[in-house]
Amino acid sequence: MIKHFEQLLKDCKKSVVLVPHSHPDGDAMGSVLGLARVLQNAGYKVNVVSPTKYPEFYHWMDGHDQVIIHSHHPKQAERAFQESDLLICMDFNQLSRVGDMKSLLEGFSGKKILIDHHPFPGNFADLIISEISYSSTAELIFSVLQPTEFAQHIDQNAATSFFTGIMTDTGSFDFNVSNPNTFETVAKLIRKGIDQLDIHAKVYDNYSVDRMRLMGFCLSNRMIVFPEYHAACMYITLEDQKNFNFTTGDNEGFVNMPLSIKGIVFSALFTEKDKYVKTSFRSKGAFAVNEVSEKYFNGGGHRNAAGGEFHATMEETLAKFEQLLPEFKGRIKQSIK
Ligand code: 5GP
Ligand code: MN
Repeated sequence: MIKHFEQLLKDCKKSVVLVPHSHPDGDAMGSVLGLARVLQNAGYKVNVVSPTKYPEFYHWMDGHDQVIIHSHHPKQAERAFQESDLLICMDFNQLSRVGDMKSLLEGFSGKKILIDHHPFPGNFADLIISEISYSSTAELIFSVLQPTEFAQHIDQNAATSFFTGIMTDTGSFDFNVSNPNTFETVAKLIRKGIDQLDIHAKVYDNYSVDRMRLMGFCLSNRMIVFPEYHAACMYITLEDQKNFNFTTGDNEGFVNMPLSIKGIVFSALFTEKDKYVKTSFRSKGAFAVNEVSEKYFNGGGHRNAAGGEFHATMEETLAKFEQLLPEFKGRIKQSIK
């Protein structure tokens, strides 16, 4: 597998295009920007094309200035695809996760590599590196690079991006951290000279006043707790978003908050969009929220972190959530320690 990875990179004569999923998170951006830096250091021409914008608290990352946003600059994105002969998809494993960019990926004439840590990868790449035991795609790509000649090109900038991916996908080492390799990887990244406290502050101490006030408002007025089911949900309407000048990423982390309540092991966040409701799910322990997301909310994800898009009103979404709790009661209870 690693040999195949190296070979595809050696065969690449023109340029590499790196793609994260829509509304990329810290892991998606950390993985593509980190790998972009490594490949550039190794002499490759690289383009990073993101399907959509990503939160401002990731804009400090190395390489951010060069990211082409497909939803804003489709022609530039098309050109990047046309001039490339290798495509690397990171942190997603279904073409539906890139939204309107799907046809660009399908029509790509060069070789395709998929590097990801979600279950059930789709079959759309020449090489699929899919490992669900990794905390993050950033940890996975770092491990993949280790035995290759590219390892020497992991500099402090690349290490900073990879650390951002691991830190954000583990909620600052709060979940998905049962594999010792995660910490071994972090140790290696620290040896590359990263400033992990500074990275943490740039991501987590970089919010707007509006975001903090929205958080307080939601905790007070938009959280519903179902003690009998050890579950809770929060929701944010379009009107709430208007009232608090909502921008991309302002709801980041909200979904984890109810899990801090004693006895709550299943939590959901519903964010109203123009045509659908974006759903996010989190759990502690054995209870698999990706099953809930797949079955009822057109989504997927990991056992303890999943999401989806539900084409219904907020009222219907909340009703659906309440309705499904009895079905999962037994399985939720298995997560109670
Ligand atoms: P979040 O709640 O942070 O948006 O997403 C948590 C996880 O759920 C992501 O890492 C991703 O794996 C998955 N996820 C989120 N949204 C979707 C979606 O619309 N479809 C699928 N298949 N997975 C999603
Ligand atoms: Mn990830």
